[in-house]
Amino acid sequence: MTKVELKPLTVSERLLEFALRIYWKFRPPVYGVLMGGPGAGKGTLAEGLAPDLEIAHTSTGNLLRREIAAGTAIGRFVAPIMAAGDFVPDEITLYLLARELRQWKNRHGAILDGFPRSLEQAELLQRLLSGWGSSLTAVILIAVPEADLIERIAGRRTCSNSDCGRSYHIKFQPPSKDGICDNCGSELIQRSDDNEVSILNRLAIYNEKTAPLVGFYDRSGLLHRVSSTNSGGKEDTLRQARAFFSTQRKKG
Ligand code: AMP
Repeated sequence: MTKVELKPLTVSERLLEFALRIYWKFRPPVYGVLMGGPGAGKGTLAEGLAPDLEIAHTSTGNLLRREIAAGTAIGRFVAPIMAAGDFVPDEITLYLLARELRQWKNRHGAILDGFPRSLEQAELLQRLLSGWGSSLTAVILIAVPEADLIERIAGRRTCSNSDCGRSYHIKFQPPSKDGICDNCGSELIQRSDDNEVSILNRLAIYNEKTAPLVGFYDRSGLLHRVSSTNSGGKEDTLRQARAFFSTQRKKG
């Protein structure tokens, strides 16, 4: 149990959820999950996919960083955990995710980037969505060799505006203006957890806790694997992911 108080839903949030449940009966939301090691390009792929599918891009890492930037009790609690590259407790991540997905602006669904990261989280997600009468449409695994992941994270630069959070790479995807975000004009920074110690920890945790999810989603017929290397084109990754989503939607 964490020492951070997680607020129960207010009356207006309950009313909104009620309205959403009615809306979802007529227009079911679409939820997709992007999987892949740290630096695999989940954020970049989500930014390409989400506008296409007319759904939100929801990154739990960004939601957590927003709490840190706002100096909330949650932010103060999670900052050292994230800097070390460890997992934030499930109850906090799920709380922030559910609060985000329950927003009216996200009523059409979301591409989830960074959640779930373990079998327990996959079950929590299933329970959350089924409670809303919904379920996952597709899971995309971005398979990247480990050496490429390390090179990507080491050169990654991230928008300092936590409402934007767009990622760049000094070599593979530089911004048009050095050190400045193309999307919102804020300064680009190196994330505090993009250091060597944290990267190796995140990779080890990924292999231990997140990789088993591949089998879990594969068995349920939801998973599509796309390969991506530092020498390969990312347009192909986006094209494959789009095609898989559209096949899965037709099935649903
Ligand atoms: P990301 O932006 O996805 O690389 O996430 C950055 C950090 O946020 C991770 O290293 C974790 O510390 C934390 N985090 C994000 N999503 C989760 C999650 N689903 N479960 C636990 N911790 C998370």
